[in-house]
Amino acid sequence: MIIDKTPDRADTIKLLRQSDIIPTHQRLVIAHALFARQQHVSAEQLLDMVNQSHTEVSKATVYNTLNLFAEKGLVREVIVDRNRVFYDTRVSAHHHFFDVDSCTLTDIEPRVMHVDYVPPLPEGTIQEGVSIVVRIRRNHAPASAAA
Ligand SMILES: [Zn+2]
Repeated sequence: MIIDKTPDRADTIKLLRQSDIIPTHQRLVIAHALFARQQHVSAEQLLDMVNQSHTEVSKATVYNTLNLFAEKGLVREVIVDRNRVFYDTRVSAHHHFFDVDSCTLTDIEPRVMHVDYVPPLPEGTIQEGVSIVVRIRRNHAPASAAA
């Protein structure tokens, strides 16, 4: 989804309805925080954002809603490791840098990253996509040593 302006309540209701999601109050609150800008958020971060400005939304509701949005293609799950899942409001194909120091994701445009070979897929499967996470950290080596 391309977000060119902050969606208002009517936009958010329309977006959910187009995806066959019943726009309940809590889903709207979560969707509003999530789609306010293009971002990568964890469920915990989204829970904090939602609860900063609205009435209490439970952790279970945030998780269930994110799963529903992912299932309907409104967000993309980016699994960094088994303890860290981010939800990406940009659903088109792209890759990521994951900074382990700051625990943040940055987009890598697909045109600048090439996958030259994918091995034969297991029988009975089709390729859904290729998503690469490049893990990065601060280089603590002195600049002169790197040269
Ligand atoms: Zn992304």
